[in-house]
Amino acid sequence: MALRQCPRRLWLEVHHPELKQDPPASKARFAVGDLVGELARSLYDVEENGQLIDIETLGVEGGIARTSALLERRVPIFEAGLQGGGGRAFVDVLRPSRKGARGGPRSWDLIEVKSSASLKGSHRDDVAIQSYVAREAGIPLASVKVAHVDPRFVYRGGDDYQHLLHEVDLTSESQARHQEVAEWIAEGQAVADRPDVPPIQTGLQCRTPHRCCFLDHCRTLETPVAFPVEWLPRLQGSLREHVRTAAIRDLRDLPDTLLSPRQLRVKEHTLSGEPYLDRVGAQADLADVRWPALFLDFEAVQLAVPIWPNTHPYQMFPFQFSLHTLTEDGAVGHQEHLDLSGAEPGRAFAEALLARVPPAGTVFVWNASFELAQIRALSMRFADLRGPLQALESRLVDLLKVVEDRYYHPRQKGSWKLKRVLPTLVPELDHAALEGVNDGHMAVLAYVEAIQPDTTPARKQELAQALADYCRLDTEALLRIWQALRAAG
Ligand code: SF4
Repeated sequence: MALRQCPRRLWLEVHHPELKQDPPASKARFAVGDLVGELARSLYDVEENGQLIDIETLGVEGGIARTSALLERRVPIFEAGLQGGGGRAFVDVLRPSRKGARGGPRSWDLIEVKSSASLKGSHRDDVAIQSYVAREAGIPLASVKVAHVDPRFVYRGGDDYQHLLHEVDLTSESQARHQEVAEWIAEGQAVADRPDVPPIQTGLQCRTPHRCCFLDHCRTLETPVAFPVEWLPRLQGSLREHVRTAAIRDLRDLPDTLLSPRQLRVKEHTLSGEPYLDRVGAQADLADVRWPALFLDFEAVQLAVPIWPNTHPYQMFPFQFSLHTLTEDGAVGHQEHLDLSGAEPGRAFAEALLARVPPAGTVFVWNASFELAQIRALSMRFADLRGPLQALESRLVDLLKVVEDRYYHPRQKGSWKLKRVLPTLVPELDHAALEGVNDGHMAVLAYVEAIQPDTTPARKQELAQALADYCRLDTEALLRIWQALRAAG
């Protein structure tokens, strides 16, 4: 799978795994994957005689040997280590198939468990490789499946996760890709055997399907590109393909004729080093304000494995908000809500929101679609609060949209994330100065840790403080950006 992303990554995985650096988002993803994997083991271990291959203890060779021994016993094997056809694979679930099933009486079902809510192209590659190795190892396969989290599943409580996973049968597809995988493996072995690292430059492959864990390392070895093409917003579709096939790394090599007006603006101001500000447009967009001006931000959690009854996987639950208020005479106030009780946070959040947001005033948010979706979901769930929630919804104004249209600073590097825009307009405020939580992924990790029953009160307090500081900075940032743009006129 490393080879599928980039041959250089495979070489580094084999020869220099110590150079890996996983960003916080990957850590969150791995934690979710571990949880779903653990649950899958209990779901597929119906007779409770399954065996887990612990590669940490046994090592790769030991894991493969142990799997070999267990194959004779015909019990479900989790993280089964297989070797064949020049490849090795660790299979999430390998279980004896029911007698008489396709593949013969001693055949096996191979199941790869994924924590995502749908099947992805990289899952198909992954399972094709596993099925190839299993077949080459002489294991007759009755079926090959990916089991991913079913977003339609509703958790009813009592630890009943019987239907959490949805299986997609890829038996025929994986069989049909046997030769294709053989070619990948031959290529992968040639790459791994190289004495030196493949001379591949960083590019679009470094973030597909995930951010490569060697990105920081690779970048330090390259002559820095003055104006990386990745700074272009919405680098998608045919433009992305053009960048890839033409191996373009620098914005200067990208023809203007291929760019949208916003991309062109980013390119021009990146090259000139001068910020862009449409003063008249910003003034016009922000002229219409009803006092007090309100600045609101939500934090929400999505769990792959639902823990609250009558909820489903990846349902969004807002658990925290911060609200800054600014009156016409310049008085600034602040309110907040943070629920770390561990109870389903929706109702308390909705009630606190309605209690603390003043009944009048324009409500500025950053990327309104997120807050709008949360408020709409709450109003669907709580009919008695629907009226006031809908009234609040109608007062939201997206400050991000104004900033995207009217402002750009080269230091944003093509991104209008709040943490990128803020230091360019309000240098004394910066998310980098926050300790503990300074982005949305870290906020979710902090929330999940804080609601665990075994988290100590002291640690919970520490997490609560970090979450409060983070969310408060977001709304202070909204307020200060709004003021800076209005003052710029
Ligand atoms: S950072 Fe990019 S170039 Fe380097 S190994 Fe990863 S994918 Fe390849």
